[in-house]
Amino acid sequence: MNVDYAEIEKFEALAHRWWDPEGDFKPLHDINPTRLNYVLDKAHIDAGPVLDVGCGGGILAEALAANGGVVTGIDMAQSPLAVARLHALETGVDVEYLATTAEALANERADNFTTVTCMEMLEHVPDYPSTVKACSEMAKSGAALFFSTINRHPKAYLLTVLGAEYVLNLLPKGTHDYAKFIRPAELARAARSAGLQVQEIVGMAYNPFSRVCKLSKDVDVNYLLYATKA
Ligand code: SAH
Repeated sequence: MNVDYAEIEKFEALAHRWWDPEGDFKPLHDINPTRLNYVLDKAHIDAGPVLDVGCGGGILAEALAANGGVVTGIDMAQSPLAVARLHALETGVDVEYLATTAEALANERADNFTTVTCMEMLEHVPDYPSTVKACSEMAKSGAALFFSTINRHPKAYLLTVLGAEYVLNLLPKGTHDYAKFIRPAELARAARSAGLQVQEIVGMAYNPFSRVCKLSKDVDVNYLLYATKA
């Protein structure tokens, strides 16, 4: 299975902190409006079922559902999923949460979703092209797919590993492994190999001091890849 259980364990341990906007997942809360608006801008999330791969506690999945999507969120960590289910109950938003991998779900729901998102997850799996391929298999013809991750660039090491984990204590130490970061050209190649057409790669510039996140031309650190299925 394409799962790194040491990675999953890190997310299990932090699950109770997921919805604290000042807690360990603060950056995900801060960047969520930016990535959500990007998806809403490019995709028709009400055109058919929406899949969020590696949904964790459901920050993006719930926002997509609140904006009219019929959303399925999948993750391999049980506690974040339990937190996600409880939070959806509290907010009264309907999301289907499943403990599975993209590869396993692709066996059951191939050619099914019109929007697929997979955010800040690929840098945590052993074989990201396999995840991208499974996302593509689950997408219908004409679907919009969105992947975000971190570039394997020295600036990303400085900001997301040294800066965020060691200097600012913004993220727990060991959250990110530089060797697992993915260059935009590598992610684009994986998308094309999976039969997708890469439409755009945009940077997500996040300032942890102002907590402002903006789309940017600079893809050196966080970036988003938008692709479509022919
Ligand atoms: N996508 C969410 C959470 C990102 S954190 C967001 O951006 O708000 C990364 C998530 O990926 C964690 O919840 C982790 O448990 C999950 N994950 C890691 N490997 C996975 C795998 N192989 N299959 C499914 N989920 C996985």
